[in-house]
Amino acid sequence: MTRDYYEVLGVPRDADTQTIKKAYRRLARELHPDVNNHDPDCEEKFKEATRAYEVLCDAEKRRLYDTYGPDAFRRGAGGSGFGGFNGPFGDFDDIFQSFFGSWFGGGAQKRAEPARGQDLLVEVVLDLEEAAFGVTKDVEIEALDTCPECGGAGTADPSSVTTCSVCGGSGVSQTVRQSLLGRLVQTGPCTACRGEGRIIGEPCAACGGAGRSLRARTLSVDIPAGIADGQRVRLTGRGGVGERGGQPGDLYVQVRVAPHPLFQRDGDDILYRQDLTMIQAALGVDLNVPTLDGEEEVHFAAGTQPGDVITLRSRGVPRLRQTGRGAQRILINVVVPRNLDERQRDFLQAFDECCGEEHYNHKTEGFFHKFKQLFTG
Ligand SMILES: [Zn+2]
Ligand SMILES: [Zn+2]
Repeated sequence: MTRDYYEVLGVPRDADTQTIKKAYRRLARELHPDVNNHDPDCEEKFKEATRAYEVLCDAEKRRLYDTYGPDAFRRGAGGSGFGGFNGPFGDFDDIFQSFFGSWFGGGAQKRAEPARGQDLLVEVVLDLEEAAFGVTKDVEIEALDTCPECGGAGTADPSSVTTCSVCGGSGVSQTVRQSLLGRLVQTGPCTACRGEGRIIGEPCAACGGAGRSLRARTLSVDIPAGIADGQRVRLTGRGGVGERGGQPGDLYVQVRVAPHPLFQRDGDDILYRQDLTMIQAALGVDLNVPTLDGEEEVHFAAGTQPGDVITLRSRGVPRLRQTGRGAQRILINVVVPRNLDERQRDFLQAFDECCGEEHYNHKTEGFFHKFKQLFTG
């Protein structure tokens, strides 16, 4: 008794492809034979889910399934998996191709051809230092991989693989038919072997004969120094394996850089805000300032103003795949004391009385502009 495919995947009948994929991935993780010590019950459920997924993810097969139910995909002789789907494909194809395929020369299909593997995208989150100086990260991916049980052959017993008797191994079926419109020759993928040209008598239990199965892998990825939030690293050929000898897909690693408690990144530059007390700013001071390379002593001259910027060359982020580094820009903020007691107020009052206009002469117009540029721009 075949369970309803929508029920198997636990999705509503109007679920979109994305939802179906997600549901299948979740089930595959739960039920995969490798994580369940090859528990036969789980294996059966895994295969069932895979069958449901194969059908519901293919618009044409899904339409047939919705119309005919599971009978549309009666299993071929001896098959317990993907090989040898029979069903009413022929009826549809025949009618369609009679009028379009053969008449207009298009639409005629050939045998199943090599198909490139799936591209994959994974995300890694780095802290600013890792992004700046580069890092090797382990990423977990789940991709169709060559089945470890059968080595991709689809069966443990190669002698059970026979040339498809319906198409003679060509993977293409051809029918000649007389119709009201004349003699029609139709070609299409052989429905007995699904265009593969061969029938697997005893499909591999782990992959159901597909030769590929969804497997979790851990890969070490070298993230280059200077990478920024939102950029991707491409690993050619590390995605899903191809079908019928097709090329593997690529793996894309999407980089996210977490916010840093002290620094803000601006291209290859690092922005840092340094608070100085009113007194430090007036008298000048040497302070240890954090940088990506550790603390560094920085001299703040007497009379430093709020909004002044000190640039530390080559203390920024290394340039991606180039030489050199950006700068660290230190924006100065001056803090004014609060909650003064009477004695402190008297000191400042006395100071103010001996301090004239000439000590405060400077241009301040640039301040808001600079501030805005540094922290919002
Ligand atoms: Zn065939
Ligand atoms: Zn296998």
